[in-house]
Amino acid sequence: MPRVVVVGGGVAGLAAAHRLSEVAPEFDVTLVEAKSRLGGTIRSERVDGYVIDRGPDSIITEKPSALKLAERLGLQERIIRTQDAYRGAYVVAHGRLVPVPEGFALLAPSAWWPLMSSSILSWSGKLRAAGDLVLPRGPERADESLGGFVARRLGPEMLERLAQPMVGGIYGTAPDVLSLEATMPRFRTLERKNRSVALGLMRGVARMKKSKRGRDHAAMGARYGLFISFDGGIEVLTDAIAARITSDVRLNSPVSGLERRGQGFALSLGEGDELLADGVILATAAHVSARLVEPEDARLSQHLDAIPYGSSVTVALAYRREQIPHPLDAFGFVVPTLEGRNLMACTWSSVKWPGRAPEGMVLLRCFLGGEGRDHAADLDEESLLADCRRELKRLMGIEADPSLVRVDRHRQVMPRYRVGHLVRAEQIEARVAALPRLELAGGFTRGVGIPDSIKSGEAAAESLAAELG
Ligand SMILES: Cc1cc2nc3c(=O)[nH]c(=O)nc-3n(C[C@H](O)[C@H](O)[C@H](O)COP(=O)(O)OP(=O)(O)OC[C@H]3O[C@@H](n4cnc5c(N)ncnc54)[C@H](O)[C@@H]3O)c2cc1C
Repeated sequence: MPRVVVVGGGVAGLAAAHRLSEVAPEFDVTLVEAKSRLGGTIRSERVDGYVIDRGPDSIITEKPSALKLAERLGLQERIIRTQDAYRGAYVVAHGRLVPVPEGFALLAPSAWWPLMSSSILSWSGKLRAAGDLVLPRGPERADESLGGFVARRLGPEMLERLAQPMVGGIYGTAPDVLSLEATMPRFRTLERKNRSVALGLMRGVARMKKSKRGRDHAAMGARYGLFISFDGGIEVLTDAIAARITSDVRLNSPVSGLERRGQGFALSLGEGDELLADGVILATAAHVSARLVEPEDARLSQHLDAIPYGSSVTVALAYRREQIPHPLDAFGFVVPTLEGRNLMACTWSSVKWPGRAPEGMVLLRCFLGGEGRDHAADLDEESLLADCRRELKRLMGIEADPSLVRVDRHRQVMPRYRVGHLVRAEQIEARVAALPRLELAGGFTRGVGIPDSIKSGEAAAESLAAELG
């Protein structure tokens, strides 16, 4: 019976262990996690009627692996969707909250009138954005920065005031170094096919409106309708996987070394403890896996080390509804870097999702950090809280003391996809493919979020099962 060790109990490692139990139930699997709990970055707290996601809070269904896994785990009844009545978001413009124009699709508008009638861009900025309608296609190239792309098509103001804050929270990376091909290649495809990105988006919306389902989808504000969560927070998913897997689970067991022994491996677990395995899946961050694979393949280790990681901080705050003067008629707001604040975004969690706060209370989640602001993760709790409260007072008029506060630091957990990232991803994949009985998983090659992390874990499990089976 082949013995497999999965290193890392985040969603990627859990998905790998779960997939092994599906495709190779006869394998003897051990899941080894450094910390005292499973789930990794995913964590939800249920307290006094609140459901507080302390890491990620939503899953995009456009990439189906997370939803499919949830369905296989029987979680259909526990899935919740965003509250349609409040779809939309605000962006900070010149120190105040302004609605993101309806139809704005992360980088570009799919409708012109809402953008033209908004105060976010100056008239010259709007004129330059409309240049996208007439500009020729850009030159063919393997990759370019997302920032360079938006500035080239829609102008620098559109980039700084709308595109940067919209994608900043997702990738935590400055757009001028963020790979377009590795993050949002569909915008480059829109340009290739339609010349104008906005025209391409508008044609897509028109096509969607022709179908009944599409009409409903478009009316809902297409992108907001794509997200799901669970009634008890995102952790419902990782808890369900943990309950289903048949693996032996070892917590508080950081793996400190990986050595090839015979055809298999020996893993060091500190204090002289050792685990033997016929096959290994490393589901840890690239910089952790880099250390572990170094004796096996120094070049692979260098490629992994070359993927930079960023940090962020989340601060959850609860208030009584009457303590917040703002109408709370959206899912929250994002803050452009050029506004010069530490706050990156704020999700109005109990507006976005049903059941996140008790009756009459409101749960907000602030995000700090991102490229150039990684130091936020090293600030003490008081200054992080003070920063958030200052911004919430300035932007939303909240003066009251919060009735609940949770501060979470996420150090070195967000991979940053630099321009040329896909070349590096291919090099990593090619070197891993050449190493017998060893697989890597995680969001550092082909997608940073939960669905892609699950996909990578499941693919690693299938590949190892095929090799050892
Ligand atoms: C604040 C924040 C908000 C986010 N929001 C979203 C969102 O809304 N939607 C979304 O899709 N994605 C979101 N993400 C990204 C998402 O959290 C990640 O893509 C996903 O959780 C990564 O899972 P993972 O298993 O690859 O890594 P991790 O969750 O980092 O898990 C890695 C695990 O490996 C363990 N480990 C490390 N070293 C060792 C070792 N030596 N030995 C044993 N174990 C080890 C760690 O302790 C950890 O448990 C967010 C991320 C952050 C930080």
